[in-house]
Amino acid sequence: MLVFLRPDADSPARERVLALFRGEGIRADLRVLGGVAVVETPPAGNRLRERAAALPGVERIESSESPAYRLAGTRDRATVVAAGSASFGDGSFAVIAGPCAVEGGEVLLEIAEAVRAAGAHALRGGAFKPRTSPYTFQGLGEEALRALRAASERTGLPVVTEVMDPRDIPLVSRHADLLQVGSRNMQNFPLLTELGRQPKPVLLKRGMAATLGEFLAAAEYVLSGGNGKVVLCERGVRTFGDETRNTLDLAAVPALRARTHLPILVDPSHATGRADLVRPLARAAAAVGADGVMVEVHVRPDEALCDARQAILPTELESLIAECQAVRAVLAPGAGLVSEAM
Ligand code: PEP
Ligand code: MN
Repeated sequence: MLVFLRPDADSPARERVLALFRGEGIRADLRVLGGVAVVETPPAGNRLRERAAALPGVERIESSESPAYRLAGTRDRATVVAAGSASFGDGSFAVIAGPCAVEGGEVLLEIAEAVRAAGAHALRGGAFKPRTSPYTFQGLGEEALRALRAASERTGLPVVTEVMDPRDIPLVSRHADLLQVGSRNMQNFPLLTELGRQPKPVLLKRGMAATLGEFLAAAEYVLSGGNGKVVLCERGVRTFGDETRNTLDLAAVPALRARTHLPILVDPSHATGRADLVRPLARAAAAVGADGVMVEVHVRPDEALCDARQAILPTELESLIAECQAVRAVLAPGAGLVSEAM
């Protein structure tokens, strides 16, 4: 159990909290987590919990399932993460859309205007691409970042782009509103640690072979550095199946919901690798309670420099958004079908 102390709680106030538990023979340790003073104890009964909550200097009390997920795994509140004008976890269904990679300023602007007209809330586009082969298109780097910022200024859409190298964080954050950690870097601990020390929100994609525990522990690296703004993204895992690029683990959404307060997105594009499956699985993501989706969109998918086969057209994005909203309307509280997890 975690007893969060208010920033103005002085030393006698902290001592009173520790004394309450120790007086009952319960171990209590004072820790500083992400810059916040917290008293950590084993789970306590309701009576003791209420007495602790009433002490001066106590802000809130949260249960923690395991020390590994002290900050990611607490469950008593949902976190809302804002990135520019976009908001994740506030009860709305957020849509991030755009090309796999930024291929040039003009085509990016064309795509940005089209996804905005289709109803997207944020623009994606890779500047630094994690490619399997060193001989394929690696992204335009800083030129792509400048193009993203220009497209953002024209459309008002906040920008989401991947950062792979801790040394690039200052450069990428000058241009991006939400810093993406890709699947291949989910356990790049120096990168996560650095992202924890800077103020921009982070979109953390699930490693393609990561358990949910490992996923949450990766989020914990960012949170424990002091950056509480983490959005999780399920993007499919490796299985024996070869019909799709990965296998979308839809169960991860309600399972994560039960274990974390962080917003949860789904990426049906990288999960399937197939444009024809993106819309159905986006609808499914809405049905299992995701806070939104990230989708690859291109105005001329045949010409896309990477992930061409999974890019959908802006017109399809418009249908996808309408369908996801319709699914959510059916499941909305009051419609009688809302699941436990929503
Ligand atoms: C991406 O979203 O640009 C990407 C490379 O996806 P992932 O890291 O999930 O493979
Ligand atoms: Mn891609």
